[in-house]
Amino acid sequence: MASRKAHHATGWAAACIAVVVTVRHGGDPLHWRSAVVFLAAWLGSTAPDWLEVAWWTKSRRLWITHRTWTHWGVAWVGLLVWSYSALGTHAIAGPAFGFACGGIMHLLADWPNPRGVPWIFGRHSLNLWNSGRCDLIVVAASWLIAAIVWDDLWFDGRHRLALLHHLLSRG
Ligand SMILES: [Zn+2]
Repeated sequence: MASRKAHHATGWAAACIAVVVTVRHGGDPLHWRSAVVFLAAWLGSTAPDWLEVAWWTKSRRLWITHRTWTHWGVAWVGLLVWSYSALGTHAIAGPAFGFACGGIMHLLADWPNPRGVPWIFGRHSLNLWNSGRCDLIVVAASWLIAAIVWDDLWFDGRHRLALLHHLLSRG
């Protein structure tokens, strides 16, 4: 896995993404429901790892083989799609959407390690670096995604356009 710290740091980014998306779908940023979405996303960002541990036993053995079912991309994306489509119609949709955002962020953070992630069938790895290495890149990438989503949904992409303009005018 990517290091625990990296999963936490990318979890914060996932939580910010989840909140801004749910707020755009009629949520209130200052309502307790947004806090629940945030918390759900944060829990989701480590869920693929803690779901496979039998935390109710003393030995805390794995009851699901590491990086198998709990890291299955189809399930996480399915949850994301369902919860997104149910936003604003179902009370559980917001937290479920947050949880899915966190889970997918986790899979993305695990993806570059040699062990890879079972997105659909079998594992796939980007084979970029070993577990725990390059956490900074993983975390920076997650915040970049968060910044793009925020800019898109809050500011209609204005910052990105301004940045592009700035870069082009310099070149
Ligand atoms: Zn993992």
